[in-house]
Amino acid sequence: MTTRIDRFSPETGDVSAWIVGDDEEVIVIDPGPDAAGVLDAVGDREVLAVICTHGHADHVAAALEVAERDEAPVALHPKDRSLWREAHPGEDADIEMEDGGVFEVADVALEVISTPGHTAGSVCLYCEDLGAVFTGHAMLATGPAPHDGEYPDFAGQLTTIGEYLLTLPADTRVLPGHGPETTIATAEKNFDSWFAAGPALGG
Ligand SMILES: [Zn+2]
Ligand SMILES: [Zn+2]
Repeated sequence: MTTRIDRFSPETGDVSAWIVGDDEEVIVIDPGPDAAGVLDAVGDREVLAVICTHGHADHVAAALEVAERDEAPVALHPKDRSLWREAHPGEDADIEMEDGGVFEVADVALEVISTPGHTAGSVCLYCEDLGAVFTGHAMLATGPAPHDGEYPDFAGQLTTIGEYLLTLPADTRVLPGHGPETTIATAEKNFDSWFAAGPALGG
């Protein structure tokens, strides 16, 4: 297996772009604000697709610019279209993701897991081949991610974590949109404390 996962964070801000691929081709997950930085990290490998875990501007700002270089499609869940348009007025994503959808890059597959809660159209990308799940804002190492210090739907976000993420294999790496990575096993251990802390958790 030559496929690898690279992480890119811009100098300003801590948002993480994840680049999955081999020496020939990659998929970019959540490019963030710095298109030039992401494309620099990609190098001369072909960008097959740009996948947005949700529509918040800090994650999708550079999506069109990163996709443009290799005329790659941008993928977004349709329920986050109005959020996306706040960052990209008059533009649409090319691919409407749905639960169970699959992207292929190099010799691995990325499966779309619908995880509404942080936003209605939040998704995670699960790569069984690499033992990793890309969680955007659905779940960080510290728990469900708030938006601007608040949870749009705390209970819903915890429910999807319990139903769709903690049911993945325990040793799966959790690669979030911000901060350090964790594992499903560790998240499972912390889940009760997130639940007990309630929406004050990330505020
Ligand atoms: Zn967000
Ligand atoms: Zn973010």
